[in-house]
Amino acid sequence: MKNILITGAAGFLGSHLCDRFIAEGYRVIAMDNLITGDLKNIEHLFPLERFEFHNHDVSTFVHVPGDLDYILHFASPASPIDYLKIPIETLKVGSLGTLNLLGLAKEKNARILVASTSEVYGDPLVHPQNEEYYGNVSPIGPRGVYDEAKRFMESITMAYHRHHGLDTRIVRIFNTYGSRMRLNDGRVVPAFIGQALRGQDLTVFGDGSQTRSFTYIDDQVEGIYRLLMSDYVEPINIGNPEETTILEFAEEIISLTGTDQKIIFKPLPQDDPLQRQPDISRAKEILNWEPQVPRSEGLKRAYEYFQSLSEEELWQEHRDFIKNK
Ligand code: UDP
Repeated sequence: MKNILITGAAGFLGSHLCDRFIAEGYRVIAMDNLITGDLKNIEHLFPLERFEFHNHDVSTFVHVPGDLDYILHFASPASPIDYLKIPIETLKVGSLGTLNLLGLAKEKNARILVASTSEVYGDPLVHPQNEEYYGNVSPIGPRGVYDEAKRFMESITMAYHRHHGLDTRIVRIFNTYGSRMRLNDGRVVPAFIGQALRGQDLTVFGDGSQTRSFTYIDDQVEGIYRLLMSDYVEPINIGNPEETTILEFAEEIISLTGTDQKIIFKPLPQDDPLQRQPDISRAKEILNWEPQVPRSEGLKRAYEYFQSLSEEELWQEHRDFIKNK
């Protein structure tokens, strides 16, 4: 049986990856410090003998007994609201956390895949973004703590690959959505669906002309799985090129939920990228991957998940997510 360590395991992406690797027959060692993650995302796996959970902050030394075949480093706050509230933790997990996990991978002779992001492209001057583009990032802006940590993550990962011959993979994840996103994390999909379910107006930031391209969780997990199993060490974009403006997106959510909410406009956050769309030629060619779930279908599934939440969860303010601080 293969052993895989997944960090950020109680988060949105991490928990879905746990499910996938359990389904593939792996022994999954899940790690999270629960600062933004939630055990309810993985509690269904607790009864399994092939699953174990470690409450640990990977920014400090990481020890795992026994053999490891793979490491997936997915621990990080990942929404603008989170990394504005916990900027130092965001920097540490992307830098020190990555360093610790690369060290662990070297010690265990394991293959490591690190979760990078379309944020390495910043507010891009090239559209759509391909992996050759170096990006347009402000190191000192509010998003810098996330963007630069992830850029450092890529840099040190390639250094371990080149200098130590470590077996590494880098995925650049574009906006992804689906079940288990925190309703109060500020990201646009749970924000709009939550507002519609609570009967509140939808808050579009700026004039809503900024664009995003949304990937359904199952497609994202499949892309990550294929990359891990490939022998490709350069970064690969995984995202759905289906692009929309945020204003159109708000209208789409209103018609999906059948509510008659209004759209209201709020100031655009500083350094909010104007456009984002992945060029996925590389993923198509190298991984034979492309998204299968159109936005209309993925949003329906996400909406069903959010509808199944309790009234209390629905109304929970953005408050107590900073645990263990
Ligand atoms: N956004 C919005 N209203 C909200 C939340 C987000 O208009 O209530 C916008 C945000 O300004 C950005 C886009 O939606 O342009 C996507 O935001 P998100 O935080 O999901 O991710 P980002 O791609 O900015 O990291």
